Amino acid sequence: MRHTQVHIDLPALRHNLLQVRRLAPHSKVMAAIKANGYGHGLERVALALPEADAFGVACIDEALQLRSIGIEQPIILLEGFFHVDELPQAEQYGFDLVLHHPSQVDKLSQHRFHQPIRVWLKIDTGMHRLGVAPEEVAPLWQRLVEHPWLVPLGQMTHLACADDSDSPMTEQQLALFASLTAGLSGIQAIANSAGIIAWPSSHVDWVRPGIMLYGVSPLLGGRAEQHGLRPVMTLRSELIATRTLSAGEAVGYGASWRCPETMPIGIVAVGYGDGYPRHARSGTPVLLNGREVPLIGRVSMDMLAVDLRSQPQAQIGDPVVLWGKGLPIEVIAEHAETIPYELLCGITRRVECVAVP
Ligand SMILES: *Cc1c(COP(=O)(O)O)cnc(C)c1O
Repeated sequence: MRHTQVHIDLPALRHNLLQVRRLAPHSKVMAAIKANGYGHGLERVALALPEADAFGVACIDEALQLRSIGIEQPIILLEGFFHVDELPQAEQYGFDLVLHHPSQVDKLSQHRFHQPIRVWLKIDTGMHRLGVAPEEVAPLWQRLVEHPWLVPLGQMTHLACADDSDSPMTEQQLALFASLTAGLSGIQAIANSAGIIAWPSSHVDWVRPGIMLYGVSPLLGGRAEQHGLRPVMTLRSELIATRTLSAGEAVGYGASWRCPETMPIGIVAVGYGDGYPRHARSGTPVLLNGREVPLIGRVSMDMLAVDLRSQPQAQIGDPVVLWGKGLPIEVIAEHAETIPYELLCGITRRVECVAVP
C-alpha cells in the first residue's frame, strides 16, 4: 500500500474550538463544516465537536448527512435553499435557512407548510456576493415577521476583507450592518474566522468560524501558532527513491530544474493527484525526517522531487510531511500562490485518512 495519508488530529480540532470561545466569549459558535469539513471529513468533524452550538453547511445534502448520523445541533444552510423541492426535508429535519434573496421569500409562499421553519436574513453590506440590498432589508424582515410559518431568528452578513487589518472595508461593513439592523428584532451574526481574530466588534451574538477550527490562520501572512491554533490535518508520505545526479542534469517534466552540482535527490510519493498543488514552486519546503528540504522541479501527478544535499544519508521509506504538524500549510499555500482553504479542500479520495481520537 502507498503510504500517502492525511492524519486528522481531533484533539487539535477541539482545542481550536476552545480557542474560538476564548476569543469570542460572549458569542455562540456556528462551526462551518461545509465542503466535507474543509476536507477533514464532514461526519468526523461534526462528531468531534459536540460543544459547537450549531453547524453551518452549504447545501441540504450535507445537512442530511449530519442528521443521518444523529447530529442534533441546529444545522444552518448558509445559502438557504436552491429549489423549493428541498423545503419538505428542511422542515422535516429542522434545518435553519439563510434567506439571501427576495426571490427565496417569494418561493416560500409556494410551499405548503406542515411545520414552522427558522430563517436568517442575509444582508449584503458590501461584499456583493449573497445578501439582500440595504433598501430591501426592512420590508423583507417585516415580511418574515408577518409570515405565519416562518420563525425569523435574526440577520447576518459576511465580511469581504476581514483578513486584512489595513483595509477600511470591515469598519464600513460593520457600520452599515449596525445601522440596517438597529430597529429590527432578532439576533445577529457577522464574523468568520478572520473577524473572530482581528475584529472583536464583529463578534455579536453568533460567530461562524471555519478555517481557524482546522488550525489555520485566516489572516494575510498569518500563522496558526500566533493565534494559539493547532493544525488538524497533516499530509504525510515517504521517500520512495533516491539517486545522485551530475551537474547540469534535469529533474522532472519539462526538464525545468537542473542540478547546479553533483548532488543527491529524492522522490516522494505524493503529487497533484493527491491534492498537493502542482503550482508549488521549486524551493517549497518539504519536511523529511523532521527537517526541511526544498522541492525541485515540477510536481507530477503521483510524485515530487526534493533536493537531498542537506540530507545525503536519507533513505527509501523515510517519513515526509507535506503540511501540517511541523510545516505550516500557510507556508505551502504562499509558495503555491493559493490559500490554505483550497489546499485543505483539495485532498483527493485516494489519500487514506487516519483520524487520531
Ligand atoms: C464558510 C463560511 C464561513 C467560515 O469562514 P472562514 O473564513 O473559514 O472562517 C463563515 N460564514 C459563511 C457564510 C460561510 O459560508
